[in-house]
Amino acid sequence: MKTIFLLIAVLLIWWVLRTLRRERTATVKPKIKNMLSCRHCGLHIPEDEAVRCNNRIYCSKEHAQKDNP
Ligand SMILES: [Zn+2]
Repeated sequence: MKTIFLLIAVLLIWWVLRTLRRERTATVKPKIKNMLSCRHCGLHIPEDEAVRCNNRIYCSKEHAQKDNP
């Protein structure tokens, strides 16, 4: 009898862990990247690829330099 309870307990823990893991993966959605436009040419680039210079956004270092001589 004890073994049945143990088995149920193990299954319950396994089930809880599985649901938790599924919930965690479900919340990790592919992030919609914030798009910013280059101040020099107007090209849209993802926020993490943008070049920042004097609080302005640029698509590349070249454009940042062109606007900030
Ligand atoms: Zn640009």
